[in-house]
Amino acid sequence: MAAPLLRFFGKVSRQLTQPWCSCRPFVRHVSSPAAGFAPLQTYSEEEDMMREAVKKYAQERITPFVSQMDENSTMEPEVIRSLFEQGLMGIEINPKYGGTGSSFFSSILVIEELAKVDPSISVLCDIQNTLINTLMVKLGTEEQKEKYLPRLASDMVGGGVFVYPRPALAAMLSSEDADGETRRSVHHQRIKDVDQQRRVRGMLGLAQGCFDHTVPYTKQRVQFGKRIFDFQAMQHQISHVATQLEAARLLTYNAARLREAGRPFIKEACMAKYFSSEVATLTTSKCIEWMGGVGFTKDYPIEKYYRDCKIGTIYEGTTNIQLSTIAKYIGQEYD
Ligand SMILES: Cc1cc2nc3c(=O)[nH]c(=O)nc-3n(C[C@H](O)[C@H](O)[C@H](O)COP(=O)(O)OP(=O)(O)OC[C@H]3O[C@@H](n4cnc5c(N)ncnc54)[C@H](O)[C@@H]3O)c2cc1C
Repeated sequence: MAAPLLRFFGKVSRQLTQPWCSCRPFVRHVSSPAAGFAPLQTYSEEEDMMREAVKKYAQERITPFVSQMDENSTMEPEVIRSLFEQGLMGIEINPKYGGTGSSFFSSILVIEELAKVDPSISVLCDIQNTLINTLMVKLGTEEQKEKYLPRLASDMVGGGVFVYPRPALAAMLSSEDADGETRRSVHHQRIKDVDQQRRVRGMLGLAQGCFDHTVPYTKQRVQFGKRIFDFQAMQHQISHVATQLEAARLLTYNAARLREAGRPFIKEACMAKYFSSEVATLTTSKCIEWMGGVGFTKDYPIEKYYRDCKIGTIYEGTTNIQLSTIAKYIGQEYD
């Protein structure tokens, strides 16, 4: 599938880098026992392997379908099937139910890598793992777990999850299998604390993916006798966005690590959610500007990242609501 897509884009004038292909150099940071206080961007061996495997998988098996899925507004069944095949739809599910048995932090890394390639696919994977599976693991009866977890890990996409603020939090879960057949079985559950966990993820991968596509372009495009990357005004903007991205990553990873350590994380998760979604808005908007006219067109994936980012400041608590929650915690700290 990749070849026809690249051939199609090859006809586009002013094409300086290959659209829809990752351009980021490979950098590896693995934890070492002698590291002492390890930097936040340190991964366990398992996390590192998972991250690298997903990066490769996303490039090879999702990238070829991104443009087509966007054009047709449909998920490619082959992509959904491959997500299951790779064990990415049951990341934290215990292997006794057919899951991958990996960590919450690994799921954050997986979602980040998928979002770099296609934020829509990452949302599908994210909701399945961090909401639907978590809901079932935390609140399902043993009978429900035995019935649904193996399916959720192997061929059933959960959907239709709604969180109501009053009188108690509740969720409704219906499902669709990998071939798109909708199952009408619906569950109602009280979910007092699942809601909190969803916030620890962001628009980080989306913003990074967009940035990774754009910077190489600025290093190739020449205007007024110079690469546009070499104009100081451009460099300052690029550096500013890169710094925001780094800060968003550190906030996100810190919140995820706090959760894994069993420490309070809600304020930090709200900060990560708020900041990452604002950074994604900034990054995608700036990337379009840095690409000039072609950034606005569908010849490059930048405009799709720009469209996809907007939901980040709205769902799972709008930016205002994140800020209100952060303020609530700050208020308590100073009581
Ligand atoms: C694509 C998509 C997927 C979604 N998925 C889900 C899902 O899976 N589960 C689910 O439960 N919901 C989901 N939602 C709903 C989403 O969470 C809500 O749209 C979001 O919480 C905002 O609520 P609202 O649309 O009612 O906006 P409103 O509450 O009407 O807000 C409008 C504006 O007013 C501001 N505002 C409102 N109240 C306050 C306040 N007290 N203080 C300051 N500002 C305020 C908001 O910040 C916002 O800017 C989804 C929405 C979309 C668009």
